[in-house]
Amino acid sequence: MNSDRTLQRVAHARDWYARADLPDGITHLFEPHIDVFYRCNMWFVRGRTHNLLLDSGLGAVSLSGQFPFLQAQPLLAVASHAHFDHIGCHHEFGERACHRAEAHILANPTRADTLADPYARLAMFTALPPDGFDELAYRVEAAPATRVLEHGDVIDLGDRHFEILHLPGHSPGSIALWEAASGVLLSGDAIYDGPLIDDCYHSDRGEYCATMHRLRELPVRVVHGGHYPSFGRDRFHVLIDEYLRGARAPGCPLESGVSGTSA
Ligand SMILES: [Zn+2]
Ligand SMILES: [Zn+2]
Repeated sequence: MNSDRTLQRVAHARDWYARADLPDGITHLFEPHIDVFYRCNMWFVRGRTHNLLLDSGLGAVSLSGQFPFLQAQPLLAVASHAHFDHIGCHHEFGERACHRAEAHILANPTRADTLADPYARLAMFTALPPDGFDELAYRVEAAPATRVLEHGDVIDLGDRHFEILHLPGHSPGSIALWEAASGVLLSGDAIYDGPLIDDCYHSDRGEYCATMHRLRELPVRVVHGGHYPSFGRDRFHVLIDEYLRGARAPGCPLESGVSGTSA
């Protein structure tokens, strides 16, 4: 649609990503030249024995190439789910994890399964990667999981521990990472402070509502989502309640009086 826009290219690959160090030992990595709706938040946590990276962006520019610190000690690259904006650089890391329900997509990431078709378009960008971007040829590189995750599994970084919460709805293998000791939730696309997506090919609104009810019981202090700015507990509750009221998803099956069967 915007293919004929004249876009500047970012001059150097080292300038593609941006980094912000946040409280709780959390580092935020992101791609500032991608429009906010498509811009994935990547979360890096340094542990005593292992490091953790949740999500790895579009993959148009090497993430570990710009940030060698990612490889300073063993790192587990976790996928919050298998959409293209979250797993593009997973192939750069030797240890990779995702939920069982989307392991087949990481192993064989087709343009359709990752939503690269239809969403990975030139219209996403405010400036192009140094080598440009071919919206018809773009695809995520295969990065089969070396560890398959289930609800309740724990990622042990030596001195920090993140529990896997299976939160289907946006996609069947959506997960969040929950650190009970700090009240930090790394939530992927299950919840963030922007328009939540529950109508893609493998979304399920009934499951999404059940996910929201479970999330509401969680004693979170701060939420770092898959898109948009981070937020605290009060905003977390507002976002959940808005979704469940249908403000963020018309026709939420569990909330509309239509009995529990999801479409
Ligand atoms: Zn997604
Ligand atoms: Zn996303």
